Amino acid sequence: MICLGIESTAHTFGVGICKGKTILSDKRAVYKPPLGSGIHPKKAAQHHAAMALQTIEGALSSAHLKLKDIDLIAFSQGPGLPPCLQVGLIAAKSLAEKGKKPLIGVNHCLAHVEIGKLITGANDPIVVYVSGGNTQILGYTDGRYRVFGETEDIALGNALDSFARKIGLPHPGGPVIEKMAKSGKKYIKLPYVVKGMDLSFSGIVTAAVREYSQKGQLVSNLCFSIQETCFAMLTEVTERALAHTGKKEVLVTGGVAASGRLKQMLRIMCKERGAKLYFVPKKYSGDNGVMIALTGLLVYKHGIKPLKGTIKIKQKWRIDE
Ligand code: AMP
Ligand code: MG
Repeated sequence: MICLGIESTAHTFGVGICKGKTILSDKRAVYKPPLGSGIHPKKAAQHHAAMALQTIEGALSSAHLKLKDIDLIAFSQGPGLPPCLQVGLIAAKSLAEKGKKPLIGVNHCLAHVEIGKLITGANDPIVVYVSGGNTQILGYTDGRYRVFGETEDIALGNALDSFARKIGLPHPGGPVIEKMAKSGKKYIKLPYVVKGMDLSFSGIVTAAVREYSQKGQLVSNLCFSIQETCFAMLTEVTERALAHTGKKEVLVTGGVAASGRLKQMLRIMCKERGAKLYFVPKKYSGDNGVMIALTGLLVYKHGIKPLKGTIKIKQKWRIDE
């Protein structure tokens, strides 16, 4: 069975085609916000609308397929930025109607997990999903994915980006902070906010910006400190999820998974607990259409009925729903 999947929750309009677990094509058009600003939902959506047709055609032609050869259309129904989700919905619905194909709505977070498992070979992991828009510690128990811990406010990637932007560093902030942190020597105390299994990052950003603008702390020391604080919080909650579930694998995905220091902290923790650690390679840890196609096939095969009639996006769709 061949599925064409469309991703459009945030900055990426992606189209992937999968035949079972084989990837036939992977096309992406990425919206880049102008220097010094974050992602603007309507502008990203305009970008997606402008790029939709050529990205879909590009994916089909690189797989040497036509719409008639596709068995199933899937799209990212949520969570995400509503104007962006809307573009994906319209594109998927048009294709499904034109080709008379069944249409499946996929949960974006689930898709990150499923492609991560496929690519790394992890079987039943605790998933650390850390991206620009999401921060969750997930795991499968008793027939569904559970959210063991998550951010109460902004995502970790967003926190790094927003700290960087506020002190004049370029976007995306994560990699720049990582580079600057290497020359940081002094740990500046920042709030360490773990509440039960949940996390909060926005107060850390505020405190770090204050240390910079009011106390003149060095950027390198602040980059070092924000990384140490946020990554330690994440590692603590991940360890507790492992202890609680008795699982023996950790799978890390999302853009922040690229961080060397985060990798190092998780590696130490997993070694101490005898857990195996997997990182989704950069190519598949970011948003893409392949993960939607792959998950669309899984969802369909598990008997979830294709969408019909009036279809709505699900801005806040949680993986545990
Ligand atoms: P995504 O939303 O999955 O596309 O991931 C984008 C996020 O990953 C942005 O917030 C980036 O700042 C962050 N990111 C990318 N590389 C790194 C890195 N080396 N360290 C920390 N964060 C990173
Ligand atoms: Mg994502």
